[in-house]
Amino acid sequence: MQMILLGPPGAGKGTQAKTLAERLKLPHISTGDLLRQNVSSGSELGKLAKDFMNKGALVPDELVTRMLGERINKPDVKGGFILDGYPRNISQAEALDDMLSKKNKEIDFVVYLDTSEPVVIQRLSGRLVCSSCGANFHTTNMPPKVAMVCDNCNGKLYQRSDDNPGTIKKRLQVYLEESSPLIKYYSDRNKLHRLSADGDKDIVLNEIIDLVEKSNDTDKV
Ligand code: AMP
Repeated sequence: MQMILLGPPGAGKGTQAKTLAERLKLPHISTGDLLRQNVSSGSELGKLAKDFMNKGALVPDELVTRMLGERINKPDVKGGFILDGYPRNISQAEALDDMLSKKNKEIDFVVYLDTSEPVVIQRLSGRLVCSSCGANFHTTNMPPKVAMVCDNCNGKLYQRSDDNPGTIKKRLQVYLEESSPLIKYYSDRNKLHRLSADGDKDIVLNEIIDLVEKSNDTDKV
């Protein structure tokens, strides 16, 4: 199954995708994570992407699409994937459709995590990420047991450099202008499933799993 999690920054795409990936035994592909790995390793792509990311702007389509194309050609992606952070605009959605159709595949399922702006701002401003395993925590919503230490792997937690008020504002504006048209794109293709994601992450996760199971049942009919 090729699945996309759609929604504004802070909707919980990464958090949900990580758990779903384990449950559904599919790889989680986050273009944000892949770009951050490139920035930390100092690769050519990382050097080109860094300034865009720090400003909260989109990294140019051709760079991100090439990076994603390489990722989805890896053997572990044969049975499908859970994509988070891509596509970010219509031209990326079309590029993804093209790449998949060359493999006789298509996007099967898109979940739109509908999240209100105050919730998004509160989540992003307090978000903490594990530098070692990538798990997410939050200063008040989900504090780690020991300050700035990951509960899962004892890795060091950090605040993302783009999770500051100015960049959050810009990322939300970019989302509204460039990414929100994707809701219509996938809805027109009958792939979109909309969920309210303002609430508890475990409730949202169960709702996503319910949707996936119902769609599997329908496919069998
Ligand atoms: P994320 O981790 O998804 O919030 O992404 C962090 C940053 O990486 C974004 O603000 C963009 O600068 C960049 N980025 C991630 N995915 C994409 C994409 N599909 N297209 C362009 N830029 C992206």
